[in-house]
This record gives sequence, C-alpha cells and structure tokens, in this order.
Amino acid sequence: MSDDTKKFSPIDASVMPRFGGMPTFMRLPHVTDPALVDIALIGVPWDAGTTNRAGARHGPREIRNQSSFMRAVHHVSRIAPYELCNVADLGDVEVNPFDIPDAMDKITAFFRDVIDAGAVPLAVGGDHLCTLPILRAVAKDGPVGLIHFDAHSDTNDSYFGGNKYTHGTPFRRAVEEGLIDPLRVIQIGIRGSIYGADDMAFAEETGMRVIYIEEFFEIGSENVIKEIHRVIGDAPAYVTFDVDGIDPAFTPGTGTPEIGGYNTYDAQMMLRGLQGLNLVGGDVVEVAPPFDPSGTTALVGATLMFEILCVLADAHARAAKR
Ligand code: MN
Ligand code: MN
Repeated sequence: MSDDTKKFSPIDASVMPRFGGMPTFMRLPHVTDPALVDIALIGVPWDAGTTNRAGARHGPREIRNQSSFMRAVHHVSRIAPYELCNVADLGDVEVNPFDIPDAMDKITAFFRDVIDAGAVPLAVGGDHLCTLPILRAVAKDGPVGLIHFDAHSDTNDSYFGGNKYTHGTPFRRAVEEGLIDPLRVIQIGIRGSIYGADDMAFAEETGMRVIYIEEFFEIGSENVIKEIHRVIGDAPAYVTFDVDGIDPAFTPGTGTPEIGGYNTYDAQMMLRGLQGLNLVGGDVVEVAPPFDPSGTTALVGATLMFEILCVLADAHARAAKR
C-alpha cells in the first residue's frame, strides 16, 4: 500500500500544455514500483489472440496519447481519483508477439507483482485474450464476478483446429480454470451473426446473465445497472470493456465491429453505475488505432478508462475507511 501523504498528480496543464510532455496514461508519472501506488495503469500491447483484423497491439500507445484529454475530476460524481488514491502509469508488459503461452505467462507475472504489492490493476489492451492472463493474477483467492461489456460473448471453445487461446475464448477458459464464477458474470450488448446456432450454449448453460442488445434497448441502461448489482452482489468483481460493445459509428477502430450497439453515453452511464460494487480491477480492450486515423476510438477508450478509474478509486477509498 502506498503512502497516503504523497500522491501522484497529472502534469499541470497550466504549466505544460496538454499537447506537450511525454505521453503516459492520464499524464501521470511513470512509476515502476507497484508498492508506491493504489491503482496501477498498465498497457498490454498484444493482439496475438485476434482472429480477424489485428491492430489492438497499438491500443496502449494511442490511448496514452488521447488520455491527455482527460482532466482530474469526474463532472457528475465529483470523484477526484488522484486525491483519493495514488495512481500512476506502470508502463507496458513486455509481451512476446510470436508466442501466445509465453506472452500470457509474462502478463500474469506482471499483474501478480502488482496485486501482491497491494495495488489494483486497470489495464489497456490489446485484444480480449489479454483479460485471461490478467484474471489468472486477479483471481488468486478464488473466482471473481465479471461485468463484461462486449458485442461478443467470447465463450467459444476453439478456433483453427483446436486453438484454445484466442480473443473469442477467454471467458470459457476463465470458467474452466475457476477464475470467474459464471453465476456472477453479466455480459452486456451481445449481438452479431454467429458461427452456429449453439454458439451461446456455454454462456447460457453455465448460468451467465446475458443481456443481448435487444434487451438492452428494451430495458435501458438504468435497469441494466440494477441487473448488474443483482448479479454481482457484494463479492469481488472485475470489469472488462471491449470497445466493440459500443456501436461502430462511435468506435470504428476495432477488429470485430458489429453494428447496432449502445452509444458512448450509454457506456458511460453503465460504468458510473458500477459505483458501490467491490471492484478489484478492470480493463479496456480491442481499441485498434490503425482502423481509425481520426483517433476517436482511442479517445473513447481513454474516456472509458477514466470512468472505470473513478469507480475503482471510489471503491478503494470506501475499502480504506472500513
Ligand atoms: Mn471481446
Ligand atoms: Mn467483441
């Protein structure tokens, strides 16, 4: 745990303008010792699990760039994460772009160091396979709940003749490995054509709560938030946000876009609704900057990261008071 008296701050924009300086997440200092932070911002520049359009390996660098737009205080909740907690950029995991098992081991080892030091991880991918090795570190004391925003369930069994580790399989593996409790999993925004009529069987038969996009538009974000709290309860939970859950009109820079999603405002409202949960970490994945030269998708990623950071900081401050 970090020293309460000295907190890291973003670079002062009245001294160095926001387009200047070295790009780090939220313009925070780059710190290598996780014992100095409460919340560790970590890049995972790895997309070897991608089955279609690659490019999410470039997500962390571009989200660092776009995160220069983020200010210090949430405009609705008034949460000031850098006053509540010590937050810093812990850099990127040194991933292996050619060897999936080796890269996953490196990711798990990095996050294990962070968690053993008492810090809460907030990661930026990378494709959605990144979340599996992160969960191997996060769920060290038993399965956690999962709030999963995505167009896809990511519970397929294998691709290309038995390959078990892709961005379409992480949450099936996470159930098999005892990292997540399927009865405390909620998936929000699922849609798009599927490979076979039984593609959703694993999620549904293990008891995951699947909110297909049709239900989302029927009940709205306020009722989705109630459902998240009902499914997750008070026990530890991890939040994972695949930006393709959002409509590709807002997030074209992603590998597997699906039309007909929620908008960025819905996404922000649902993330704000996570306040009060026992959150033990989170990530934003599948931002693929090469498909969006405007940078908007990475700006969405940076903004969602700030939303998650605020609820993580609030959860940390509440836990510290107990
Ligand atoms: Mn996904
Ligand atoms: Mn997806």
